[in-house]
Amino acid sequence: MPDTSADSFDVIVVGAGPGGSSTAAYLGRLGRKVLLLDKASFPRDKTCGDALSGKSMRVIRELGLVAEVEKLPHGSITGVTFSSPNSTQVSIPFQSSDPNREGGTGYCIRRYNTDNLFFTAAKKTPNVTTMEKFQVNEVVMENGMAVGVKGIALTDPARAERIYRAKVVVGSDGVNSAVARAVLGEKAQLDPSHSCDAVRAYYSGVKGMNGQIEIHFVKSVMPGYFWIFPLDNGTANVGLGLLSGDLAKKMKKDKTNLISMMNNIIQNEPMFKERFADSKPLGPITGWRLPFGSKRRQLAGDGWVLVGDAASLVDPFSGEGVGNATNSGRIAAQFIDEAIERNDVSRLSLARYEVAVWDEFGKELSTSYKMQQLGRHSWLLNLVVGKAATKPKVRELISASLSNEEAKKKFENPLTYLWLLLT
Ligand SMILES: Cc1cc2nc3c(=O)[nH]c(=O)nc-3n(C[C@H](O)[C@H](O)[C@H](O)COP(=O)(O)OP(=O)(O)OC[C@H]3O[C@@H](n4cnc5c(N)ncnc54)[C@H](O)[C@@H]3O)c2cc1C
Repeated sequence: MPDTSADSFDVIVVGAGPGGSSTAAYLGRLGRKVLLLDKASFPRDKTCGDALSGKSMRVIRELGLVAEVEKLPHGSITGVTFSSPNSTQVSIPFQSSDPNREGGTGYCIRRYNTDNLFFTAAKKTPNVTTMEKFQVNEVVMENGMAVGVKGIALTDPARAERIYRAKVVVGSDGVNSAVARAVLGEKAQLDPSHSCDAVRAYYSGVKGMNGQIEIHFVKSVMPGYFWIFPLDNGTANVGLGLLSGDLAKKMKKDKTNLISMMNNIIQNEPMFKERFADSKPLGPITGWRLPFGSKRRQLAGDGWVLVGDAASLVDPFSGEGVGNATNSGRIAAQFIDEAIERNDVSRLSLARYEVAVWDEFGKELSTSYKMQQLGRHSWLLNLVVGKAATKPKVRELISASLSNEEAKKKFENPLTYLWLLLT
């Protein structure tokens, strides 16, 4: 017989990554009684590029974590280096006036550390109860409303099922979200045109790192990109990502996979061979999937809300997901709190969260999708990077677009490319 002993909360948050931990921390601060569950125990690793976008800094600042972030082992990032398929390279500094970056500098921090910071902050927040090694298998539904979760404590040898009840269930359990599958059914399946497969590994001894994150549009892996992100102590996060649909075609045609493609770049590409000649891998190459926000899914329903990767909010151009995960958590907490206050956690009431998310991220995600589509054309990348390498005005435009939405939107305009041709 399943153990049906039920505990009751205002909100159950399933998944304690950056999205779930932020949601729980904000809700706890608002005085809501929260249960934060994760099947892993912290600190735990998460396959990622480890770059912390300027957008993540808003939540880090609001949760009072800037000083702790500074103390974590990190790479200080001052800009982005791009290379085009014809191997032209250009370095673009961040603008020192960017309000999202502390003194114009960004961070690369292993997710092992970043996620533990977010989780610990949530755990310390009044009104938040955390439970690690608890795997949620089902959302408990009553009359079409989500009213709790059912799962197992992975430490319990008997694996007895437990139920916890709440007014609202938050799915922040990542790309393979059990909550999203329970509430959305087939609509939670990833579309290969709007999701990406990526691998990464840690290395020491990579030569020529310049304190910038590096994004390389290497010819052999187009339309994907290869990255080198500097971490602490001369180490680097090195990876490769490709749209899932493109990868499937490449695998079939060239009988290859992401790991062989990445090793091939490191060992054979003239631009990287020498840089990796004395490098040492510090662990295995691991892979994971990124659900892009270019395809919108329903984010709220009767008694439930999705945030972060469970809500499919990753930027389709840069692959950044931590910023949208933490900020969707911030927004979700506000609207869940208000819905509970109104004593109405119906879809109509919680849909205000969904509207607010698209208001805040919608335009940026659609610009990024257009840029991702443009980035499929080698000639265009050659043109943009080539011009940027020689023209300060072009570098300034790209630099502005790294922090400013209006500047980024210019890359949607065909006239920008005419200007580039004539510049
Ligand atoms: C290779 C790669 C590189 C990337 N690079 C970057 C980058 O440089 N910068 C950036 O900002 N983003 C990057 N991303 C995206 C980023 O990793 C994600 O967007 C981010 O982790 C989303 O956070 P989250 O909290 O929504 O989900 P997650 O971080 O995936 O956390 C989900 C949590 O839910 C738990 N969980 C899952 N299922 C259950 C269950 N059934 N029951 C209980 N708990 C469960 C998991 O244990 C996990 O702790 C990258 C992704 C990949 C794959």
